[in-house]
Amino acid sequence: MRGCLRLRGAPHELEKRRFSYSERYAIWKCNGGRCWRCTEPLRLHETTVDHVLPEWLLYDHEERMHVISEYGLNQDFDISSHENWLPCHDRCNRKKGNVVPTFIPAHRATLENLIEQVPQTEKVAAALRSNSAKDRVFAGYLLTRGAALTLIA
Ligand SMILES: [Zn+2]
Repeated sequence: MRGCLRLRGAPHELEKRRFSYSERYAIWKCNGGRCWRCTEPLRLHETTVDHVLPEWLLYDHEERMHVISEYGLNQDFDISSHENWLPCHDRCNRKKGNVVPTFIPAHRATLENLIEQVPQTEKVAAALRSNSAKDRVFAGYLLTRGAALTLIA
């Protein structure tokens, strides 16, 4: 219980999701190879995965329900899924920090597009996952180009 209280007060200390190379590739590929925050082209090895609605909402039920209702999303909207993941530069990802998201209508449209495209993104990720040789190729490609070691959003 004490742990929970500490986590609520310090969202930056929360455990963040790690993304596989296949997931990163699928998110990059299915979203036009651009950073969704600055809209500039993003090379695969620069890609980090950003949560449109911040990941720490997973640990704050009340705030999550508030934000989900503000955005007009279904109650079962999954913060930790392709419904909420977009490719992003590491630097653009870091700029955002852990602030409580204010309602931004454009982000609602972004989320609606993402939700629509989930089957396609999952298909691409699954196809890569099922081919472990390909996954190793991507891992090698990313690592030789100095991809960030922290594959987190
Ligand atoms: Zn960017």
